[in-house]
Amino acid sequence: MNIRSLRFRITAWSISFLALALGVFSIAVYLGVQQFLTLSMQRNLRNMSSNVETVFLSEYGKRGEKWAVGEINEAFSGGDDRYVRILHNGREIFRSDDMHNPPVIIDTIPLPNSGFTGITRMPQISGGILQFTDQYEAPDGRHFTVITGASQATMQRVLRSLAWVLVAICPIVLLFAAVAEFLLIRGPLRPVLMLTQRTEHIGRDHLGERLPVPETGDELQRLAIALNRMIERLEDALAHNHRFSADASHELRTPLTIIRGELEQAIQEPGLSSTVVDAIGSALEEIDRMSQIVQSLMATAYLDSGGEQMERKPIDIGHLTGSTIEQMRLLAEERNITLITEQLEPLIVEADPTRLKQVIVNLVDNAMKYNQPGGMVTVSTCAQGNNALLRIADNGIGIPAASIPCIFDRFYRADKARTRATGGIGIGLAIVKAICNAHQAEIRVHSIEGQGSVFEVSLPLCE
Ligand code: ADP
Repeated sequence: MNIRSLRFRITAWSISFLALALGVFSIAVYLGVQQFLTLSMQRNLRNMSSNVETVFLSEYGKRGEKWAVGEINEAFSGGDDRYVRILHNGREIFRSDDMHNPPVIIDTIPLPNSGFTGITRMPQISGGILQFTDQYEAPDGRHFTVITGASQATMQRVLRSLAWVLVAICPIVLLFAAVAEFLLIRGPLRPVLMLTQRTEHIGRDHLGERLPVPETGDELQRLAIALNRMIERLEDALAHNHRFSADASHELRTPLTIIRGELEQAIQEPGLSSTVVDAIGSALEEIDRMSQIVQSLMATAYLDSGGEQMERKPIDIGHLTGSTIEQMRLLAEERNITLITEQLEPLIVEADPTRLKQVIVNLVDNAMKYNQPGGMVTVSTCAQGNNALLRIADNGIGIPAASIPCIFDRFYRADKARTRATGGIGIGLAIVKAICNAHQAEIRVHSIEGQGSVFEVSLPLCE
């Protein structure tokens, strides 16, 4: 499980809020029940007190103490979890039996101050005691202090059970909610995953494609529309860039040809000093180099502007590779390189023969250029699944690992000092890559510095 994923974080946040809400809810329920139970106890104590007063003590004067105490004893003998005490002129005329649920000796409960009326809480006595004291004046003017009390132990037990239930239920609810939310949130997040995958697919070479816009009317729809607009702007910018390179290189061709012509004419002039001849010769070399760059720029700009302009037809890549290698043998001999064709399976692919030949030439030329005298270059074609695989391996100088991701960039040379002597300008592989892209072909390179390189081009086979 990825704890940095949106799915995990949304679940974690909502479960934290749910935990907070459940915590507040549980405390509110606990305090509410506690308050309710305390108030109903107080109400019961008041009712008991007023019963004693209106039913029995009001008759005290007429029927005497014996009658009153006997009646009260019958009604409130106590012994369970409540008690009644009655004081008359400072003398206790009635006291219920000691409580036994929980056991409390009534005598140990302190009497209220004289004249006090109201509720007293005694939490220190065996689970807590709640006591109500009332001053009663009978119709005949006699004064009584009526004390009714009850143990809070039962109430505390109920509250403790409630607390346990709440504490046990909350984690179960949270766990259930977390699992359910983690599973359910996959649905709403699916369009985000789909957009991510499609956006990853739309690279430099698929800018013509657009993301599907979910008709949900929500943030995702807006995101897809915004991304599509961004891709459109990128496509425009890139097209502008391609047009600029194509136009600039085209415009540079004529002045370069003129300069070259004029320099070639100037060098023929008699009586030129050797310094001037050297300077013109060096300028001509640089002009050659510039022409090469301009030509390569035109070629890549043409390829970038769209492979659809290429001629596509079924060709046998094995045969094309064989014939191209034969044409390059002389060059290999000049460079003292052994050029071997290992296995040339006849495989039909749909491609532009001129462009595909350029791929073979550029890769084989590099394999010979970045090699040592007596080195070896091996070329083969074979089928691999639904693809034709062109493989060019050499045992030359290899490419430093840090340079491998950059070698297909324009004007990149792995080691400028090392490659200067070969005269490369760093555009050959960029052209190869552009041709491969236009053919939906994949190009891979494996290389170890000092040991050699392998370039593989994988082209879809014709069905
Ligand atoms: P260049 O015109 O410099 O040959 P490329 O685009 O063809 O330009 O190649 C880019 C760089 O990749 C080269 O400068 C070279 O450093 C490296 N490279 C390409 N092919 C090979 C190879 N077969 N062996 C070693 N290095 C290579």
